[in-house]
Amino acid sequence: MRNPDPGGLRPLAVLLDLDETLVVEDASVEGAFRAVADVAAARADLDPAALAVTVRRRTKEIWWGSGDAAFAYGRRVGVSSWEALGGALAVDGGPLASWTVGFQQEVWATALLDHGVEDLALAEELAERYPEERNARQRAYPDAAPALAALAAAGHPYAVVTNGAPGQQRRKIELSGLADRLPVVVVSGDVGAKKPAAAPFEAALAALGVVADRAVMVGDSLEKDVAGAQSVGIRGVWINRSARARDGEVVPDAEIAGLAELPGILA
Ligand SMILES: [Mg+2]
Repeated sequence: MRNPDPGGLRPLAVLLDLDETLVVEDASVEGAFRAVADVAAARADLDPAALAVTVRRRTKEIWWGSGDAAFAYGRRVGVSSWEALGGALAVDGGPLASWTVGFQQEVWATALLDHGVEDLALAEELAERYPEERNARQRAYPDAAPALAALAAAGHPYAVVTNGAPGQQRRKIELSGLADRLPVVVVSGDVGAKKPAAAPFEAALAALGVVADRAVMVGDSLEKDVAGAQSVGIRGVWINRSARARDGEVVPDAEIAGLAELPGILA
């Protein structure tokens, strides 16, 4: 990517998405569901692989069918159904914490019933177990810490810009071992709006003290990260770890297959 100001006073600032950019989300969520389903299968006559599928579907259905304040907040700041099941809305405390317990138990009780198992005590146990299994799988991609170290060494100011509940996103950073490398973190839940809205990007630029055309945004979502950044004048870098095909509507300014390629495109 061409630096528009190669003789500029400071290197480009870099904004980074969190989930599936710096830290593993999809595989960890899948692993947590399977681990809890295995617990269920040890206690009841059911197929754990099938339960893992059913409970994900029920999580979405019950989350999206919920009309209450927890869902409204979660939708506004970009909390996914499976993050809500993992306790994302409970980390910050308050009324969302008690709502979370009811949501978690309803999901697991309903999914068990789908498999002919009526057992509220087991549902409560699985509801408690899922956040534990999810948190046990909070980890950074292996290229994350080296890439952040390279950015720091080259003098690039950088910040995380992530959607979600503040406590949950910061806990992910801590549990994945990146907290020391990420002093500036902007979470949609703190800003009140989620990517692709302008507010989270503008908050990150303000925190770093840079203007939009001196920054790039790196993320795995073409819509939320790339298009969102471009809409406020930040160049969008698409990190495409799994060689996905790009839909034709959003055109990133650059594409990388992993964070090891990041220093090269900033030069
Ligand atoms: Mg992401």
